[in-house]
Amino acid sequence: MKKIWNNKRDFIFLQVAIMRELVDILREQQHLDSSSYQALLECNDKSVVAYLHGQAREVGDEVFGKGIFVRGLVELTNVCRNDCLYCGIRKSNTAVERYVLTTEQVLQSCQQGYELGFRTFVLQGGELPRDKAPWLVELVSEIRQRWKDCAITLSLGEWPREVYEALKQAGANRYLLRHESHNAVHYGKLHPDEMSITNRLQCLMWLKELGYQVGTGIMVGSPWQSIDNIVEDIEFIEHFKPEMIGLGPFVPQHDTPLGKYATGSADLTCRLYSIFRLMFPNALIPSTTALNTIDPNGRTMGIMAGANVVMPNLSPVSVRKNYNLYDGKAISNAEAAEGIALLEAQLATIGYHINWNRGDFIFKC
Ligand code: SAH
Repeated sequence: MKKIWNNKRDFIFLQVAIMRELVDILREQQHLDSSSYQALLECNDKSVVAYLHGQAREVGDEVFGKGIFVRGLVELTNVCRNDCLYCGIRKSNTAVERYVLTTEQVLQSCQQGYELGFRTFVLQGGELPRDKAPWLVELVSEIRQRWKDCAITLSLGEWPREVYEALKQAGANRYLLRHESHNAVHYGKLHPDEMSITNRLQCLMWLKELGYQVGTGIMVGSPWQSIDNIVEDIEFIEHFKPEMIGLGPFVPQHDTPLGKYATGSADLTCRLYSIFRLMFPNALIPSTTALNTIDPNGRTMGIMAGANVVMPNLSPVSVRKNYNLYDGKAISNAEAAEGIALLEAQLATIGYHINWNRGDFIFKC
């Protein structure tokens, strides 16, 4: 039989060529089979990873140019009825000083954001007791009336369909609900018994049916997560077709049961940004605070890998330290809405700028 390679160098060369080919196919067809996703996640050749990021960035630039969307994040509350094992504001964490912003505080944050130029407000928080739903609906409708030209994004966890519907009717446009892990066994290890991936997926389906622009995603490198799990998540997202994809590394929080587990990887997070950019050229993919927390260059790395959104913090400064999902959360400078000039400067170093438009998902004709 004829030998197709003569030595180790030829073999590596061939491997690299195959991996680059996979990136090209993903760009062309927006799809790969599961073993190819796995190969891209496991490949340890730096030139392939650089190629993956470069192709993703090219595709992002074709659709969005050099503009990066900004969303003003309002951390509505750290009160939570859930007990996710990784999350610093889980209900069992007695070390947390709990708060719920008042309507007035939320409106002030939005006002400040609006004056700075933000046209999307993201209300994120722990999961309030169910009897607070009418207040949430009222709050959304107040924001809608005051800022008719702004998008309202919610990231408030799991609610019955009627609540999602009332929030939508009140004026919410988008909803972020990471599925966290599509694999039931892995999901089960990260969450208490009362929570299930079935319910999470049901919520995502409702949100879609109700006409929200929907975001989902995972923590990268959460405890016990295998590459197979991530491939399963990629395939779920590919099938679900969200408008937004939220991915950040797992970062331990010392008062949680998972506080001693290892931090997730920035490299893997960025590879996933690239894979999703190639899969969904139009998607809104934030370069997350968690990524910027574990690497001081995280934000720009994320953008260079294909992300196109950043979410500076608009919450009142006094509560920011209490919204501690994980340790070391980046809360100042370019991470804060007041630091917008710094963010502009940071983006300029990589040839990008802020796009102040509300930046709805671009539907393909
Ligand atoms: N209660 C809402 C919002 C949760 S906070 C909800 O359940 O959707 C938003 C995201 O922060 C979560 O979806 C989770 O993926 C992420 N997160 C929570 N704890 C984290 C940690 N320790 N490290 C990294 N990300 C975390």
